[in-house]
Amino acid sequence: MDVWTYDPVDAKRFAVEVMERSNQNILACYQCRRCASGCTVGEEIGFTPDRLIRMVITGNRKAALENALVWQCVSCYTCGTRCPNDIQAGRVTETLKKMSREESITPRSPTIAYFHDSFVSGCTRWGRVNEIQFMGSYEMKSMAKHLVSLRFAEVFKEIREQSRLMLSMLKQRRLHLRLQTARGRNEVRSFYKLAMEKKKKGRNVMPAR
Ligand code: SF4
Ligand code: SF4
Repeated sequence: MDVWTYDPVDAKRFAVEVMERSNQNILACYQCRRCASGCTVGEEIGFTPDRLIRMVITGNRKAALENALVWQCVSCYTCGTRCPNDIQAGRVTETLKKMSREESITPRSPTIAYFHDSFVSGCTRWGRVNEIQFMGSYEMKSMAKHLVSLRFAEVFKEIREQSRLMLSMLKQRRLHLRLQTARGRNEVRSFYKLAMEKKKKGRNVMPAR
């Protein structure tokens, strides 16, 4: 187990960065845990937004960036609607996700990271998600991981399960084989490009609320 040593300068720098990038005043959090009682995934993963916020405020950078909630948060914003101080913990998890990516930290839930990457790449290319492209991209990433670790049984299991899922979706007409583009795809691309440029310049890309 990693031992965390408190460094006030690093702690402050980390907390300020998360606050600026997420646009959330987490210092207002007084640990009432109203967010925790409504968190959609808290019970499943055994960790709640109030604890993540406390981790950030105290500057436990490594534990916060590697936390399971960072990837498993489903951005439902239930926590934010319950918070008496108007803190959107979903924005905090999103920010930590980006920071962990920038620091090339291996996600605690790699499959969720593949899902996330496949979603973003599809949206920025076509302006919407195309089921067939999305499933293909996600499966390729998952299988590559098994192949690299020579887990061939997992690869066959994945192919079998996904083929079954594909057939069932096709039967129910929930899987469209034709790639479709959204009318506003150029706008989606330019928003994304703008956000990336702002990020490079170290400016906040989250809208204020
Ligand atoms: S509801 Fe708000 S103030 Fe209460 S613990 Fe959660 S983030 Fe903190
Ligand atoms: S936005 Fe994330 S942290 Fe907040 S309630 Fe939903 S799953 Fe939990």
